[in-house]
Amino acid sequence: MEVFRPSSLYEALEVRAAHPQAIPIAGGTDLMVELNFGRRRPEAILDVSRLPELQVIGREDGRVTLGAGVTYARIIRELADHPALAQAARTVGSPQIRNRGTVGGNLGTASPAGDSLPVLAVYDAEVVAASTAGTRRIPWREFLVGPKRNALAPDELIVAVEWRQPDGPGSFSKVGTRNAMVIAIAGVSLQLDTAARRIRIALGSVGPTILRAPEAEAFGAGILDESGAWADPRAEVPADALGRFGELAAAAARPIDDIRGTAAYRRHACAVLARRALTWALDDRRLAAG
Ligand SMILES: Cc1cc2nc3c(=O)[nH]c(=O)nc-3n(C[C@H](O)[C@H](O)[C@H](O)COP(=O)(O)OP(=O)(O)OC[C@H]3O[C@@H](n4cnc5c(N)ncnc54)[C@H](O)[C@@H]3O)c2cc1C
Repeated sequence: MEVFRPSSLYEALEVRAAHPQAIPIAGGTDLMVELNFGRRRPEAILDVSRLPELQVIGREDGRVTLGAGVTYARIIRELADHPALAQAARTVGSPQIRNRGTVGGNLGTASPAGDSLPVLAVYDAEVVAASTAGTRRIPWREFLVGPKRNALAPDELIVAVEWRQPDGPGSFSKVGTRNAMVIAIAGVSLQLDTAARRIRIALGSVGPTILRAPEAEAFGAGILDESGAWADPRAEVPADALGRFGELAAAAARPIDDIRGTAAYRRHACAVLARRALTWALDDRRLAAG
């Protein structure tokens, strides 16, 4: 097996163009499992873990850039002002996996159970992909095209992911068979956009790919309007409305029965996680308001 170890993005893209069969490797926490189980035997590997361009965390004009090669451990340390993403990063694997695993790798694998992906969906993030021909920005929902399938062309690399800095509380939570080292049976990320008076919610592990729940989003924004909670964070939102929000979120799920859980359990988990996520967001706003 040939191994390419470029030291710059430019060099890596040249290798990618010349050897499209070379599989990129970042932290290797997905790819090495495939290799070890003999599910994949690539002719060549392209190591992207040394590319400085992929290690960037940038902020400019309210936009955030997260390099594809940034590990979960760094996200926890350096993106504490992004609670949803930091919470998702904290739930990934073990410390060893969080020290190696990257968001670029999560996007590359494109599993519906990828924990960072519902968060990128509520951030309305764009994936920055590059080839020797140039750079393009792909909205997350066009990038994640199906179970373990993404829209990356064979000559492209994921360079980064970008979004507008969220203005409001957010969270990520998941249900699994235990608390750590677990693939989600259901995962939910929620982000309040206070300036736009919008709620965004995304579901993981309950469909072929990450799903947003537009009816729940519209209903949730409406109940915050009616209760006056957008204007006054101390305003009470009725418990039955929060319950209905959870039900509408669960209705957007398209789960299957598998060894990890039944479709019915997954739907139920979505309803509970969604209701909790909105409750937490309202509590956070109340706390911030003093
Ligand atoms: C024990 C264990 C526990 C785990 N727990 C979780 C968990 O709780 N939650 C979770 O979401 N995941 C989990 N994972 C899966 C894995 O850690 C994550 O998906 C991680 O984000 C993969 O990142 P990586 O850098 O290691 O990817 P790699 O394994 O290096 O690559 C993954 C895929 O992405 C492609 N790729 C990587 N970087 C690029 C790039 N820059 N451009 C183009 N393609 C690229 C590779 O070719 C490959 O197809 C776990 C894995 C293990 C082994």
